[in-house]
Amino acid sequence: MRRKTKLIHGGNPFDPHTGAVSIPIYQVSTYKQDDIGVHKGYEYSRTGNPTRHALERYVAELEEGVRGFAFSSGMAAIHAVFSLLSSGDHIILTDDVYGGTYRIVTRVLSRLGIEVTFIDTTKQEELDKALRPNTKALFVETPTNPLLKVTDIAKISEWAKHRKLLFIVDNTFSTPYWQNPIALGADIVLHSATKYIGGHSDVVAGLAVVNSEKLGEELHFVQNATGAVLGPQDSWLLMRGLKTLGLRMEAHEENARAIASYLSGSDAVLCIHYPGLPSHPQHELAKQQARGFGGIISFDVGSADNASRVIKLLKYFTLAESLGAVESLISVPAQMTHASIPSERRAQLGITDGLIRISVGIEDYADLIEDLEQGLRA
Ligand SMILES: *Cc1c(COP(=O)(O)O)cnc(C)c1O
Repeated sequence: MRRKTKLIHGGNPFDPHTGAVSIPIYQVSTYKQDDIGVHKGYEYSRTGNPTRHALERYVAELEEGVRGFAFSSGMAAIHAVFSLLSSGDHIILTDDVYGGTYRIVTRVLSRLGIEVTFIDTTKQEELDKALRPNTKALFVETPTNPLLKVTDIAKISEWAKHRKLLFIVDNTFSTPYWQNPIALGADIVLHSATKYIGGHSDVVAGLAVVNSEKLGEELHFVQNATGAVLGPQDSWLLMRGLKTLGLRMEAHEENARAIASYLSGSDAVLCIHYPGLPSHPQHELAKQQARGFGGIISFDVGSADNASRVIKLLKYFTLAESLGAVESLISVPAQMTHASIPSERRAQLGITDGLIRISVGIEDYADLIEDLEQGLRA
């Protein structure tokens, strides 16, 4: 099955009980048992719910994995995956991960005795330096947020395999439509489904897909034990979103390419980060490991004042946290999504005060470019 067909026919596209072509919202907490322990596969909706299961099977197939899991947010999915580790374990992470990921490892996991090291995972030699005898996992985000750095998934999966590390990839920016980390060697793929998978700024959700039955059993144990499951209504919304993921990603990409090429020629822009530009340091790698470059662009306008001036003038870019929706969104990472990262660390990473991140929507790109033109001219 090709990707576009899989988005429509993947998972279990029909309700097995009624044939309904939209999986019903099983708004239910518990299930009648015919005798003690005799039931139709469902006992309690934290453990399993038919609507959530349909989504979980669907995303597992889209990510070319073995089992999928749906959580109440991207952070809940990340937390569940980190709960596979124990006190005394060490994790290596990409240095410019999502601010919430930075926060959970430095301020929650650290209290539970889990050690972490942040490195530039685009550089192989940094991996060797960060390795410790108690290293158990490698967590990579690619492309990263907000600097769009690209890590070679296949190459470092080999490195991780030889060292028996759990290799986790946050695939939120690329989505299963453009990139499949499990096919490139990852053990677990994570998504903030709040972003492109939901796609319409109306759900907060997280997804995880694993590459083996064994990991599937372990993660299901954690999901059921900790309980941050996605409700049936939101599971249904994600399935609805996934049906048009291909169409939306193609549209985001077309617009993002046009805008990136406009911004690269603008005098008001000091530098621009977009993996689809030949000037991007990992452009060739991005082309090879993903089928598209995505819809996120970041660019530097020189100062926090300039950034706030531009943002005030824009009509079609909504100032908001989040990304991946049909409408274009704009943010200043240093003051918004990445505010939980200390300022010295932000400076080291290159998340400058004048850095603007746009999540390009699916509007007509001519309108978006005109809007940016008038904003940047001022
Ligand atoms: C938003 C985001 C998260 C967190 O997901 P929530 O759904 O907001 O909890 C994790 N990783 C990335 C890359 C994100 O963009």
